[in-house]
Amino acid sequence: MSDVRVRFAPSPTGPLHIGGVRTALYNYLFAKHAGGTFILRVEDTDQNRYVPGAEDYIVEALNWFGLTPDEGPGFGGDYGPYRQSERKDFYAKYAIQMVEQGNAYYAWDTPADLDLMRTQDVNAKYDAKTRVKMKNGLTLSADELKLKLESGVKYVIRLKMPANEDVMITDLVRGEVTFNTQDLDDKVILKGDGMPTYHLANIVDDHLMKISHVIRGEEWLSSTAHHVLMYRFMGWEAPQFSHLPLILKPTGKGKLSKRDGAKFGLPVFPLEWNPGNEEELYSGFREFGFLPDAVINFLAFLGWNPGTEQEIFSLDELVNSFSIKRIVKSGARFDYDKAKWYNQQYIIKTANEVLAAMIRSEVSADYNDEYLAKACGLMKERVETIGDIPKVGDFLFGSPSEYDAKMIRKKYKEDNDPHFIALTGTLGTLEIFDAESTQSAIKGYIGDNELSFGAILPVLRLATSGTMKGPDLFEMMELLGRDEVLVRMRDGLNEIKKIISAAQA
Ligand code: GLU
Repeated sequence: MSDVRVRFAPSPTGPLHIGGVRTALYNYLFAKHAGGTFILRVEDTDQNRYVPGAEDYIVEALNWFGLTPDEGPGFGGDYGPYRQSERKDFYAKYAIQMVEQGNAYYAWDTPADLDLMRTQDVNAKYDAKTRVKMKNGLTLSADELKLKLESGVKYVIRLKMPANEDVMITDLVRGEVTFNTQDLDDKVILKGDGMPTYHLANIVDDHLMKISHVIRGEEWLSSTAHHVLMYRFMGWEAPQFSHLPLILKPTGKGKLSKRDGAKFGLPVFPLEWNPGNEEELYSGFREFGFLPDAVINFLAFLGWNPGTEQEIFSLDELVNSFSIKRIVKSGARFDYDKAKWYNQQYIIKTANEVLAAMIRSEVSADYNDEYLAKACGLMKERVETIGDIPKVGDFLFGSPSEYDAKMIRKKYKEDNDPHFIALTGTLGTLEIFDAESTQSAIKGYIGDNELSFGAILPVLRLATSGTMKGPDLFEMMELLGRDEVLVRMRDGLNEIKKIISAAQA
């Protein structure tokens, strides 16, 4: 094992957004590429935002994608516990240490005090300018402070931002990013209930868990200056930081949000999330009929590229090729068509039997496994999602529910009816009814009668499947079998004639 240790650190505040999956993926790829360790840490210190079921959802999603953590809650590891709520007692002492050093201070401001500060100046933040007017350890005398602490009144601990200092972050994606402490607030690091805020818990755990690289979403970049300062105050070596680009809406404008799922009719979560109320019910990539490897491949390219033309990468190939250097800085547009294209490529690569098992519950038990596998084989090049197999190919699981009237008007000629009917007879007498023999019988009939292919084949296709877009006609006929084909030719011709007379009426 190398010293590379990375963590995916979601907060269980709801279902994991697809952007979170990408963060997990990049952490996983980076760790595995370096022979390092991929850790799952659950950041659940904010009890107000805790959502039951969210942690299980995260684990289920990671398992679905095969991004199994080496360490984490339920996964073992020497640096646990891996749920911050179970590490409660770890944090306060570091906050107090920073107070003792003069890098942090106690504060007793009530919500009303803080509101008042903001009403006096809407842009006010708790910082060097305002802290001198507030109720904190810096404005109380030593005796008052002692009394206050002894009285047991709840306090928070705030970080004391040094005056006018440039804090430089070396980000492996963005290069050098500098924040001036004048623009940073005195963030709360320990709350009134003794629980750490995200900032404190994050750096303490990254330190204690020996995290070498922090790879996370761009939204955390502005907090990193605070983190870098805390590492310095504690005398700890900071991990290396990489902030990932935003995932943008399909339109390319603005950040992809959970509401975009419903708006654009696409999944923005990996799996279904069903908290028991309609409003928050979200379908996932899995329910939309995506294969996990296809989603992984798609997400890998949302913000990274290998620098070659190759687009299809298995998870192992991604591990081999991944490097932080090739992560882009600019936002990555969520291109749903591309996601479907990937899925199609992976569906084509998937064994027919595997696809059959996936659609088993969608089709009648009358169709045995062998039939189902063959049907998947016929349809897989024509669909973008698993669910499309029985939908787009519904004519393989029952007579056509619809006939394409436009095509019928274009292709059907009444003069050919006698041939069509004669052909039914020919097919009825074939000894073997496979693709080869039906094809040679039909083509033989066409040749013998000096007809064109166009006189017979399109109508035969429309009568059997209702559409011109189906799979190979002869393969399809073989699968349906002689009896079914003969019934469909007879019924189909009737339907076609009905459509024609309706159009003429
Ligand atoms: N708990 C934070 C989140 O929900 C983690 C940010 C980080 O990786 O430091 O995204």
